[in-house]
Amino acid sequence: MAIIIDGKAIAAKVRDDVRLRTQKLTERGIRPCLAVILVGENPASVSYVTGKEKALAEAGMDGRDIRLPAATSEAELLALIAALNADSAVHGILVQLPLPPHISEDRVINAISPEKDVDGFHPVSVGNMVLGRPGFLPCTPNGIVYLLKEMQIKTAGAHAVILGRSNIVGKPLASLLIRRDVNATVTVCHTGTPDFSLYTKQADILIAAVGKPGLVTAGMVKPGAAVIDVGVNRVPDSSRKSGFVLRGDVDYDAIEKIAGWITPVPGGVGPMTIAMLMRNVVEAAETP
Ligand code: NAP
Repeated sequence: MAIIIDGKAIAAKVRDDVRLRTQKLTERGIRPCLAVILVGENPASVSYVTGKEKALAEAGMDGRDIRLPAATSEAELLALIAALNADSAVHGILVQLPLPPHISEDRVINAISPEKDVDGFHPVSVGNMVLGRPGFLPCTPNGIVYLLKEMQIKTAGAHAVILGRSNIVGKPLASLLIRRDVNATVTVCHTGTPDFSLYTKQADILIAAVGKPGLVTAGMVKPGAAVIDVGVNRVPDSSRKSGFVLRGDVDYDAIEKIAGWITPVPGGVGPMTIAMLMRNVVEAAETP
């Protein structure tokens, strides 16, 4: 049976550290502040934003909860970001994605000052990450690397296979895993990969970030591998009050029996994403 990676517990330790750092800053008269902008009312986005607001309050940080109607124009959003960039009381700016189709996500991300880009999505942050220079690291990939380190899962010389090449998970994760202090050998699979199971069967570390519930089955996993499930999928379930249940991208029940380590959904990668975000905000506030 696999060791279950308790992302909730590991994230709680990170958040304890963030709380202490926040306290020290507050004593010096600096209160870390994150502006969280939500455009529209996408239910998953509302729930992510609410989670982030709660985490900010728990850490003793300020949250500027900015909720805008779906009809907000791109120009209005860009003007708001410009004002927040200029506001010295705001240390981080996060625009919850996805945005309504009439707004360019690229233009919005580009408008956030890299000094306040605590999501790590700005091209300058991405460039710094790839070059190994200081800058904000994207929260989900950074949280995954943190989990591997915390669980003492051997990464040096390991073959890590990532399913998914999105800008927020797959691509940056590949970049972090090949850093010298992690030293994994990385394969990235996507819809252009004819048969990804050829690669996943060889993976010492398998990370699934595709957004397809149960796509990864036990036959695709090497016994003893570390399986990191990034997927968060709402699967209809009439027995639940919400009408859905959250499922990952891997067949947890079957893979738990053969993997060496596995992250649950929920309670694995998700809490680490928020913890890493909080860490980026406190770091932004600590930076003179
Ligand atoms: P995304 O932008 O939709 O990207 C999905 C990736 O998976 C794409 O690269 C796609 O390939 C690939 N893919 C899809 N179906 C595939 C298949 N059948 N075979 C091989 N590759 C396939 O998704 P994302 O934003 O990275 O998110 C992925 C999942 O992680 C979602 O469930 C999301 O909710 C979750 N997520 C969780 C967290 C967290 O904190 N826990 C954070 C971020 C995302 P192509 O590029 O070829 O289309």
